[in-house]
Amino acid sequence: MSQLHTFTFNAFSEQTYLLDHGNGEATVFDPGMSTAEERERFNRHCIGLGVKIVQCLLTHAHLDHVLGLAWVFDCWGVRPRLHPTDNLTWDQAPRAAELYGVPMDPLPSRGPDLEAHGSVVVCGGHRLEVRCAPGHSAGHVVFVHHERGWVIGGDVLFQGSVGRTDLPGGDGATLAKSIAEQLYTLPDSFEIWPGHGPSTTVGAEKASNPYVNVGGTGMLQR
Ligand SMILES: [Zn+2]
Ligand SMILES: [Zn+2]
Repeated sequence: MSQLHTFTFNAFSEQTYLLDHGNGEATVFDPGMSTAEERERFNRHCIGLGVKIVQCLLTHAHLDHVLGLAWVFDCWGVRPRLHPTDNLTWDQAPRAAELYGVPMDPLPSRGPDLEAHGSVVVCGGHRLEVRCAPGHSAGHVVFVHHERGWVIGGDVLFQGSVGRTDLPGGDGATLAKSIAEQLYTLPDSFEIWPGHGPSTTVGAEKASNPYVNVGGTGMLQR
């Protein structure tokens, strides 16, 4: 786990992750740094690790997960990769920023789309499986590191909670299906690093998540 670094950024307390490839390079996930102080903190952390950012991956394109994209592009010339089924969320991000009154730099153009469900993204020596997990947004994906036993999960499943489903493209039944089929099928020991709040494990949520659990007593069962 020492190679995965966590940051809490912006007005939405969004979790940005940095995966150190171990060779002087790193991947950033959902860069949400929005103030000069947050950007400086992230930059200092990279300098401390001796890494430069060479890849930027998005679980989905909600406002709170894209606020640092322009800055990341300016610093490292790296363009974000998103699953194309989340295009609508991407297109709506500037409007969402207006609605919430959050200043947002114009989004950079994107890099190559993430590939199909089950495809693999290489991060140095790390291999992450891309799994489509819609329901919170239409094109949400999670990144599964099978070898290390962890998931960068975005806003699908939280400790004791789930992602909201009332935003455009959201749907409760679809979210419950994604959790059951894409996360609860992983080993209980797998750690989930979510888009908000502390990490949890597949086993803990299967046992006691009040929205979707294995006992079938949750509020959002399939
Ligand atoms: Zn979201
Ligand atoms: Zn979020």
